[in-house]
Amino acid sequence: MKEVVAAIDLGGTNTVFGLVEKTGKIIAEDRLRTTDYPEINNFVSALVAAINRLSKSKAGIKLVGIGIGAPNANYHRGTIELAPNLAWKGIVPIVEYFRKKIDVPVAITNDAKAAAIGEMIFGGAKKMKNFIVLTLGTGLGSGIVVNGEVLYGHTGFAGELGHTIIVSGGRDCGCGRQGCFETYGSASGLVRTVLNLLSEMKEESTLRDIPPSQLTAKKIADEAAKNDPIALEALDYTAEMIAFGIANAVGFSSPEAIFLFGGLAKAGEMLFAPIREYVNQSVMPIFKGTVKILPSGIPENNAAVLGAAALAWNELK
Ligand SMILES: [Zn+2]
Repeated sequence: MKEVVAAIDLGGTNTVFGLVEKTGKIIAEDRLRTTDYPEINNFVSALVAAINRLSKSKAGIKLVGIGIGAPNANYHRGTIELAPNLAWKGIVPIVEYFRKKIDVPVAITNDAKAAAIGEMIFGGAKKMKNFIVLTLGTGLGSGIVVNGEVLYGHTGFAGELGHTIIVSGGRDCGCGRQGCFETYGSASGLVRTVLNLLSEMKEESTLRDIPPSQLTAKKIADEAAKNDPIALEALDYTAEMIAFGIANAVGFSSPEAIFLFGGLAKAGEMLFAPIREYVNQSVMPIFKGTVKILPSGIPENNAAVLGAAALAWNELK
């Protein structure tokens, strides 16, 4: 019998789950709509039934654990807490619901921490003990690994680098405060920067022809590749702000590498090269040249499922 774990990427709209071998090979995958289940109990029942169905469809395998990546998940308590994009309100003891329905170990963590464990088990951080994964999407998530362990802290929510304040009195943030790293360093932060520059700069730019609601990090990166002055300025400013966030994180845990992941990281060297330069300018002298800025070593399509699988395998170690 080949051992597999069920890896669950629980999202606001869809929940994707797969059966994953210890090597990181995904042998089966399926999904269900999270929004079809306003009651958590029904959701877990449907998910467990679907996982059992998927397991039975493959001969010669044995399910040995479950890993879940979810927004606002608390690893210590096995809960999802106050998640704005999910129908289940308050503090949801989701791991307890699973344990009533299936007899294998179940662990949960938030998406960015799952991405960090994925990087450690299957990706570019296999030999590293100290590193940070930054997920640069709509928001800015982070998973911090110190001495080979994910940092959870007193509450289980440690590692909210996206909500460290890098500009006093700066941009309004969804967390209710101002000037958070996320409001500058995420894909949506880049869009906000372009909107500001379009009114401040006089230069011609094809970005002026795109309605503000349709501006995306990808379109901005595409225009920067064609030397659009506003797109270039916006990427440079974003790189500088990401470097400030990184310099603070370097002072905190002295990582060997920072892995950049998610929509904004797809801008590639156009973003990575200036970030490296600004990081070296912004860190304390003792840290100069000590931290690598790298793309994630995990294929983006499978990253969330592989992160959840890595969590499950890591628990079984
Ligand atoms: Zn914030």
